[in-house]
Amino acid sequence: MGDMAGSVREIVDNVGLAREMTMVGNYENAEVYYQGSLQLMSRFILNISDPIRKTKWQQVQKKVGIEYQEVKELKALLETFKLECNTDVPIGVRRRDNIPLDTGSESTYGITDPDVWPPPTPVDHGILARSNALKTKPINSRRSEGGKKTQPSRVSSSSTTRRSDIGKITSRITKKEDRPSSSKSERNVDAVKERQDSESTDKVGDKIEEQEEKKFECNGMERELADVLERDIVQKNPNIRWDDIADLHEAKRLLEEAVVLPMLMPEFFTGIRRPWKGVLMVGPPGTGKTMLAKAVATECGTTFFNVSSSTLTSKYRGESEKMVRLLFEMARFYAPSTIFIDEIDSLCSRRGSESEHEASRRVKSELLVQMDGITVNNDEPGKIVMVLAATNFPWDIDEALRRRLEKRIYIPLPTLDGREALLKINLREVKLDPDVNLKSIARKLSGYSGADVTNVCRDASMMSMRRKICGLRPDQIKQLPKEELDLPVTTRDFEEAIVKNNKSVSKEDLDKYEKWMNEFGSS
Ligand code: ADP
Repeated sequence: MGDMAGSVREIVDNVGLAREMTMVGNYENAEVYYQGSLQLMSRFILNISDPIRKTKWQQVQKKVGIEYQEVKELKALLETFKLECNTDVPIGVRRRDNIPLDTGSESTYGITDPDVWPPPTPVDHGILARSNALKTKPINSRRSEGGKKTQPSRVSSSSTTRRSDIGKITSRITKKEDRPSSSKSERNVDAVKERQDSESTDKVGDKIEEQEEKKFECNGMERELADVLERDIVQKNPNIRWDDIADLHEAKRLLEEAVVLPMLMPEFFTGIRRPWKGVLMVGPPGTGKTMLAKAVATECGTTFFNVSSSTLTSKYRGESEKMVRLLFEMARFYAPSTIFIDEIDSLCSRRGSESEHEASRRVKSELLVQMDGITVNNDEPGKIVMVLAATNFPWDIDEALRRRLEKRIYIPLPTLDGREALLKINLREVKLDPDVNLKSIARKLSGYSGADVTNVCRDASMMSMRRKICGLRPDQIKQLPKEELDLPVTTRDFEEAIVKNNKSVSKEDLDKYEKWMNEFGSS
């Protein structure tokens, strides 16, 4: 069994290398790796006794064989064009989606685990174009006039910025792949022609631009992971401002100090005054930790990477460490950046199976390495990468991670004033009965979290509508005039809503937080 696992790893490594070589246009080496993997597969298949597994592996072998064939064709074609073969030209070949699913327990690279990777989806050219534009756009042009960096989503696909050859060829070949009518050789001819076109039109000025342009480049499988990161994890527009968050003045001040000031006066924040590597927000659920992270990104104009640790350890299992490395590489590239890791405790958690634990452990190790690397990056003035983590279970975080999260701040339940401010924020768009006294309602909500207060407001604002429609048939409800439903919210509505919505945080929980903060807090 051990030998079998070793062979699978060898096969996977060889296929991975073959694809990487193809992606960077090094077809000679790609061919060698393809040949090697096919031979390894043949030997491996001979030793498989289970017929179903054998068939699946044969399918994989066939697909890899097709890829090999395509690379050979492409190479031959390029030779007939007598092109000056520039080995730096990456050619997008087959997507991961084309590889058959579920070959047993082995799952990495193209040999995918259906529980981990979603089924094949059609290529979203918009996303592809956006991500290529994002990767190839000069960093300077991603800043607004005010000096703030625009969010990647705002980079339009119709941007006039010249895309690099990499972007053009990869996205165009992918488009062709989606077109069933075009044969392989047609695709290859198109790709080469397009490359020639773009070369001739882009040649002028290329030299100058190449020096100015800063591209986030990566190869092979990493490019796919980078696409996933840009699509799922780079938050488009968090759009939460400090004013949207009630209370938490101390937390806002600390976060501003930790993130904004080092950006404003980088020369001051060097040596012993270097910016914090990481800030941990600790507190009961629903107290605004996620909102604070989003506000940091909005208010400070940093690129916002919103990651949940459970995403890292489950969805991209097998690719997780690579994902973490790439995440930090991208964050450094697009710096100043904020990497927000929600539920960071789950990286240290011992729940679940041994393999789950192993995956978390590896991700955590990579995270530690990357966080140590942040310091080096911060030596470059203004290029801040700030890790902002949140947890409801600080006691689950082990020492190594805790040490990297140097600043540990408590995000408490809202105070009386905070609850009143929360009521005002939540009821901004709702008509209130003049008799409603928000201060007295806030008093009644003692011990409620921000999220609990929001729930009470939502419920209270629906009470009059509920009373109106009680006992009516759907057709009668439809006929009710809008003004009759949209009545001002009364004190009675709040009282009923408070009875229905209990607070979610217990006294014992609060004691636990207090104890932990006394021991490990640093604010
Ligand atoms: P956490 O990350 O601490 O679990 P969130 O930031 O996700 O909590 O908050 C959950 C919801 O609770 C928010 O969407 C918001 O409606 C409300 N909320 C919590 N705290 C605040 C606050 N201080 N100001 C405004 N809304 C809040």
